[in-house]
Amino acid sequence: MSKCGDTPVLAKGGGGVNKDCIFCKIVAGEIPARIVHEDELAIAFHDIQPQAPVHVLIIPRRHLPAISQMEPADREMVGHLHWLARELAVSLGVAETGYRLVINNGRDANQTVGHLHLHLLGGRAMGWPPG
Ligand code: AMP
Ligand code: ZN
Repeated sequence: MSKCGDTPVLAKGGGGVNKDCIFCKIVAGEIPARIVHEDELAIAFHDIQPQAPVHVLIIPRRHLPAISQMEPADREMVGHLHWLARELAVSLGVAETGYRLVINNGRDANQTVGHLHLHLLGGRAMGWPPG
C-alpha cells in the first residue's frame, strides 16, 4: 500500500496567481508534487531536494512572496501553516523525536523560491547554528 505523498500528483487547483512562480504552479495543479495535505488556505508537499528524512514544505495557496511581506490579514494563514506543521509532524512520525521549522527570508537567508513556505525538517539530529 502506498503512503500519502509517495507519488507526485497534481493539486486540486485554485489559488495560484503568479504565473512565474513554481509554487503557484503546484497550487494550481499545473505541475505535480508529492502532496501530503491540501485545504482552503494551504498545501503541503515533500521537498524535491530533501535535507532530512522528513522534509516537507507548507505553503499558502495565495502568492505571498516572503514572510517579510506578511500583512495583518495574513496572521490567521501564517498561524495555520504552523498548525499544519504540528499536525504533519505527528502524521509523518517525527513529533516524538523532534523537528525544525524554518522560514528563509531574503538573500542572506538563501530564500530561493519567492512564495512563502515553511520547511518542516525531521528524522535526524540537527546541528546549531544553521549554516
Ligand atoms: P528556500 O531556499 O527556503 O527558498 O527553499 C525552497 C525549497 O523549495 C528548496 O528546499 C527546494 O528544494 C524546494 N523546491 C524547489 N522546487 C520544488 C518543487 N518543484 N517541488 C518541491 N520542492 C521544490
Ligand atoms: Zn506563488
